[in-house]
Amino acid sequence: MQFEVFTLLPEVFPPYLESSILKRAAQRGLIGVRVHNIRDYTHDKHHTTDDTPYGGGGGMVMKPEPVFEAVESVLGLATPLSPPEPDSKIPIILLTPQGRVFNQRIAEELAGYERIALLCGRYEGVDERVREHLVTDEISIGDYVLTGGELPALILIDAVARLIPGVLGDPTGAEDDSHSMGLLEYPHYTKPAEFRGWKVPEILLSGDHARIEKWRREQALARTFHKRPDMLENAELSEKDKDFIEGLRSKVEGQDI
Ligand code: SAH
Repeated sequence: MQFEVFTLLPEVFPPYLESSILKRAAQRGLIGVRVHNIRDYTHDKHHTTDDTPYGGGGGMVMKPEPVFEAVESVLGLATPLSPPEPDSKIPIILLTPQGRVFNQRIAEELAGYERIALLCGRYEGVDERVREHLVTDEISIGDYVLTGGELPALILIDAVARLIPGVLGDPTGAEDDSHSMGLLEYPHYTKPAEFRGWKVPEILLSGDHARIEKWRREQALARTFHKRPDMLENAELSEKDKDFIEGLRSKVEGQDI
């Protein structure tokens, strides 16, 4: 899977991408991240990428010309006058606090593409014509505002990359993760079996896989019930799961009385 990143700060990407799992994924050819400096697509002496906003007010706005030229030339889109076809196979995603809020479903959806373009804003953001006529999707990583789209782009790359088969060492690695099944994941423990007097739950040492699986499922249901009850509405639940949750609910209601 190929990510094409467009940014004014290309230098912030390598330190993260060249570490750990993403580095290995790139070395094995499972992902490729190409970072393009929007400034390289300016033609004036000062390589201007931003300018003051029409209508006044503070801040600077990223100019449309270098952004269009960078994306069009890298993606091999037609002439500057014809916008990308709406059914273009390459999503051109603007990172913006005004986009749809990123989550595991969106990560799964994006993992289905072979190539994705990510456009990082800076300052007050990009000229509105970029949003209207160049990008095909807008994604926010949450309801807060950052100084630029670079961290959001890295977050998106990281979340999407780990869904690509082979990127995680364990082939089932991502299946149980929080949010992938609509539940928070069960708790994990590793050695030692006792640390400062705190013991690992006995059942995990039992070797009884069926009981461990049942315990993990119930832990996942219970944590989701207590921490993120909103998620239960969309989770895939068996009849057994529902009974378990009913049990939790009546316990909580019992306590309220
Ligand atoms: N004035 C803009 C915010 C600009 S923040 C507004 O109010 O909508 C500067 C850049 O940071 C944005 O162009 C965007 O690329 C990035 N950014 C900031 N917060 C973000 C978020 N929550 N999700 C994704 N990108 C974000």
